[in-house]
Amino acid sequence: MYLKRLELMGFKSFANRTELEFVPGVTAVVGPNGSGKSNISDSIRWVLGEQSAKTLRGSKMEDIIFAGSDTRKPVNYCEVALTLDNSDHTLKIDYTEVTIARRVYRSGESEYFINKRTCRLRDIIELFMDTGVGKEAYSIIGQGRIEEILSTKSDDRRGIFEEASGIVKYKARKKEAEKK
Ligand code: ATP
Ligand code: MG
Repeated sequence: MYLKRLELMGFKSFANRTELEFVPGVTAVVGPNGSGKSNISDSIRWVLGEQSAKTLRGSKMEDIIFAGSDTRKPVNYCEVALTLDNSDHTLKIDYTEVTIARRVYRSGESEYFINKRTCRLRDIIELFMDTGVGKEAYSIIGQGRIEEILSTKSDDRRGIFEEASGIVKYKARKKEAEKK
């Protein structure tokens, strides 16, 4: 599985619809300060379900919607779509290409989609469980995260290994079952 495409519409500095294509292997995003490099990684966290505005470097969720510039009016909603190549069927879903998308309006309501069909955030979280992808997983290592991994409580560290070994979904199901 690999990241194939990322589409941004009205997300932070990306006022216009912007499409980024990726190929297997290493991709580096380069550009001057303030050109939007970190906004790209924020968009990936967000589409994977991030709920914290602070993690996305804002103070409220609305801060991720393009706020306008000297020449452009603000927009009313933003959308991010992330497409993964799933020909190796890492994701347990019957498609060789999987697109997850999220849209949010200024009113605050978020909508989620898997291959254009509306779904719950929970469906997205479950889809990525134990794959290493996900807002809390190890596929996105932010600045300072390595230090955090080395120094945080043993319980948090264990979480990373549990995700890597693929047992998180069983633990989540057990917890669900215990609630019932
Ligand atoms: P650096 O090299 O300094 O890390 P960067 O390329 O990572 O820079 P970003 O932090 O991704 O830059 O982008 C910052 C830019 O995004 C700022 O110019 C900021 O004004 C703009 N920006 C952030 N949120 C919005 C928004 N809601 N609407 C419009 N522009 C935004
Ligand atoms: Mg940056």
